[in-house]
Amino acid sequence: MSRLTDISYVKRVLSAHGFTFSKALGQNFLINPDVCPKMAELSGCGENVGVIEIGPGAGVLTYELAQTAYKVVAIELDKRLLPVLEETLAEHHNVKVIQGDAMELDLRKLIEEEFQGKDVVICANLPYYITSPMVMRLLEEKLPILSLTVMVQKEAADRICAKPGTRESGAISAAVHYYSEPELLFKVSKGSFIPAPKVESAVIKLHIRKEPPLHTTDEKFFFRVVKAAFLQRRKTLANSLSSGLSLPKDEILSALNAARIKPTARAEEMTMQNFSDLAECLKKQLPTI
Ligand code: SAM
Repeated sequence: MSRLTDISYVKRVLSAHGFTFSKALGQNFLINPDVCPKMAELSGCGENVGVIEIGPGAGVLTYELAQTAYKVVAIELDKRLLPVLEETLAEHHNVKVIQGDAMELDLRKLIEEEFQGKDVVICANLPYYITSPMVMRLLEEKLPILSLTVMVQKEAADRICAKPGTRESGAISAAVHYYSEPELLFKVSKGSFIPAPKVESAVIKLHIRKEPPLHTTDEKFFFRVVKAAFLQRRKTLANSLSSGLSLPKDEILSALNAARIKPTARAEEMTMQNFSDLAECLKKQLPTI
């Protein structure tokens, strides 16, 4: 069993390496012994499945993943954690730690080079300051992965998993549902971490779709419309899209009419199909957009 949930052991190892927590890097390390084994199991890693972990910290989740995964490649930005990880993961020979920024690294190349055609999943307790851009990056790049199992703040989990067309939904919900089928796995209390964060967390799993749930002739434009609509989510679409897409309000109203969407609708009332219909109608009206 991992000693990495023994708080006095973790504190001892960290202080032996002169490590102090950085708030700016979202460093809240898991110490609840139930969470990592559960996350590793639900991530789908196995002897024929490789894992990419983002932000291993002191290695608590890495340790559990390495127990069953073919291989774990863990990307850590904070150089100070490299000697810590060398010590805490010494017994696992199927772990490779890469120092770098997970937002910048070429993950497609990494997958090709490190996993020899095996299935790959992503599993991480994400640094909270980059949750949305990181999830978006991992989805938009269409990486050859089966799923993302990630811990995020509870509020972000609700937003990410919210079905488009419901009050909790945002631009990220539409992207998530387009590229994956999201599942809320379990909640994690504040006391499960050192230092304890201010808010609760949750683990979600995004099962990557083989095909999008609807056909769009111009995927990039579809997402431009979604993002513009949510930029000013309290406004009606006629207003938010007119400013977000820099188009005359008349054009938006006429596309809304052609797509059979009421002119007073707001972004959060729009289903994926509504967004797709609206994008198609705008494209038909303004082919050079
Ligand atoms: N996995 C560990 C755990 O569960 O205890 C640590 C999780 S902690 C919430 C987030 C980790 O991500 C920290 O170790 C932090 O240094 C690292 N990190 C922050 N920004 C990063 C980035 N851009 N790329 C890679 N790692 C990053």
